[in-house]
Amino acid sequence: MTFFPSLAYLVVFIFGLIFGSFFNVLIHRIPKSIQSPKKESLFSAISFPKSYCPKCKKGLFVVHNLPIISWLFLLGKCYFCKAKISIRYPLVELFSGFIFLFCFWQYGMTAEFFLWLIFFSILLILFFIDLETFFLPDCLTIPLLLIGIFKSLLYPLPIDPINAIVGGLVGFFALFITNAIYKFWKGIDGFGFGDFKLLAALGAWFGATLIIPIIVVGALVALLAVGLLSFVGKRLNLQTMIPFGPALITATIIIYFNPDIL
Ligand SMILES: [Zn+2]
Repeated sequence: MTFFPSLAYLVVFIFGLIFGSFFNVLIHRIPKSIQSPKKESLFSAISFPKSYCPKCKKGLFVVHNLPIISWLFLLGKCYFCKAKISIRYPLVELFSGFIFLFCFWQYGMTAEFFLWLIFFSILLILFFIDLETFFLPDCLTIPLLLIGIFKSLLYPLPIDPINAIVGGLVGFFALFITNAIYKFWKGIDGFGFGDFKLLAALGAWFGATLIIPIIVVGALVALLAVGLLSFVGKRLNLQTMIPFGPALITATIIIYFNPDIL
C-alpha cells in the first residue's frame, strides 16, 4: 500500500472516532429529550448544553473529550468527581471508527459510501439506546427507512424501489402480526412498536426475503444473550423485559457479513 491511501484511511478512521463521540451524545440525549416533560426540540436537546459528566454535571474540557484517549488517560473515571464513565463511550467511538473505515474501504468516496455510513451509524446509535432505555426512537428508525428507499432509487441493485417498499411493509407487518397473535394469547405486547419500525427499515435496505432470516437469527441472538446473562448470575424470568432491537441489529450485521449462512 502506498503512503497516500494509508493516510486517507487514517484520516477516515479519526473522523469515525470523532463522530463516535457525537454518537455517544446522541445515545445519552435523544431518550432524555423524548422523556423530558418540557418538550424541547430534538436539535436543542442534542446541541446544548456542552458535554458534561452525567454524575457531577461539570462541563468537560476539550482534553477530556478526545475519543478513546481521554477515557484511557482518565482510567474510565470523571476528571472532577471520579465517577465511573461507562465503557460504552470508548466502545461506541471505536465501533464508529471501524464503520467509517469499512465503508471507505468498501465504497471509496462515493454517494454509496455516505449512505452506508449513515445506515451503520444509525444502527450503532439505536443498538445502545435500546439496550439502555428500551427505546427505538422514531427520529432514527423513520429516517433509516426513508434513506433505505432513497438508496434503492439511487442504486436499484440489488434492491430496487419496489423491493425496498415491499421489504418495508413485510418488515413492519411480520412483527406486527406476531405481536397481535401474542397479545391475543397472553394479553400483553411481546414487542414494542419501535421493533416494527426498525424491521421495516431493515426491509427497505435488504428487501423482503431477508426479513424472516433477520427475525430468526435475532431470536437466536436474544436466546444466547439471555443464556449468557443467566450464566453470569443475572436473575431472569419470563416477565423480564429484554430489548429485541440490539438482537435484530446484531442479526443484521451477522447476515450482512456472512450471507452464506442463509
Ligand atoms: Zn463527574
